[in-house]
Amino acid sequence: MSSVIFLVDMNSFFISCEMTRHPEIKGKPAAVAGDPATRTGIILTANYDARKFGVKTTMPVHQALKLCPDLVLLPPDHRFYSETSRQVMDILSGFSPVVEENSIDEAWLDMTGCEGLFGDPASSAELIMNTLQTELGLPCSIGISENKFLSKMASEMKKPLGITELWRKDIGQKLWPLPVQSMYGVGKQTAGKLKAMGIHTIGDLARSNREALVKKLGKSGAELQALANGFDDNLVQSHAHEAVKSIGRSVTLAEDISDLENARKVLLRLSEEVGRTARKQAVKGRTVQISIKYADFRTITRQATIPATSHTNEIFEQGYELLRKNWNSRQPVRLLGISLSGFDSGQPAEQLSMFDSNAEDAESEKLVKLENALDSLRDKYGKSIVNRAVLMKKESGSSK
Ligand SMILES: [Mg+2]
Repeated sequence: MSSVIFLVDMNSFFISCEMTRHPEIKGKPAAVAGDPATRTGIILTANYDARKFGVKTTMPVHQALKLCPDLVLLPPDHRFYSETSRQVMDILSGFSPVVEENSIDEAWLDMTGCEGLFGDPASSAELIMNTLQTELGLPCSIGISENKFLSKMASEMKKPLGITELWRKDIGQKLWPLPVQSMYGVGKQTAGKLKAMGIHTIGDLARSNREALVKKLGKSGAELQALANGFDDNLVQSHAHEAVKSIGRSVTLAEDISDLENARKVLLRLSEEVGRTARKQAVKGRTVQISIKYADFRTITRQATIPATSHTNEIFEQGYELLRKNWNSRQPVRLLGISLSGFDSGQPAEQLSMFDSNAEDAESEKLVKLENALDSLRDKYGKSIVNRAVLMKKESGSSK
């Protein structure tokens, strides 16, 4: 069976995050920029309405304002972006047991063998895209291929909200005509050296003389040429062997709720999942955090410290305490989340080293994790009070 790898890239991530809590800027050109007050900073991310004016990442703010005088500028809030990124990664982990975070706004997913769960690659990609949109209000693009490099290149081809397949057999037509500097892994300097050798497109690189490349660029010359030919044997590396930083679950409610008792039930079920995951990973956390997203997309988070635990009840009780204190029946809620973090440093490495074992074990481990993922999806469908609308639709159409 050949591999199926996705690269999920969140579109204009920082400003998209801001748009979820500032709905008033939707449809207006806006950007996150360092120090907008003094107008000396640079643009970190511009939304697509601003890009129409030529506003780009790394452009000085004063230049951006010349191109687009009505540009709305927001200061960066990196804590908020990391928290949102964690929610994105949490959702992605529900689709594949092997997720590799490449940066705050993108990750590779090994989707090999997931057809039975989510359908063919294009349908699974659509499901992931819709889930991120529904749960978090965030757009993404997804590249699909048989390896990491090609999926990354594919993800760049259609933005925003693009799903692009780029299989090795099609690279002559889709990849080779692109300029060599657009290749993932080729920086400005390397591009300069390649151009000096008369290599202008990815196709040129694919067909160039290998010895000459190695002479000029060292070992990386040969590696780049292999990539240009669509060969990449780097595996998607789940970070599961690293210390877990946080375990969280959130859910978008089928209907906005303003009744505390209903919210309590939802929180209890989410706490169960968090507790179960913590116990499975043999970690105990001291920090319980809840997040509440209101119907108007405003989000608040509140946290408290408790003695280290992995018990559902203790997690839930602290979470509910926070929820009760911050409850306002006049503000309907559309999403609730709870997480456990602040884990003890002594991680039980032997329980988390599944990816170091031999390939066969890793394969069966993968199946077990898939089973678990499926179980937890089933759990969700079983409870009528909450659902993930997109997944529900998919589930009712399948034969499971
Ligand atoms: Mg990215």
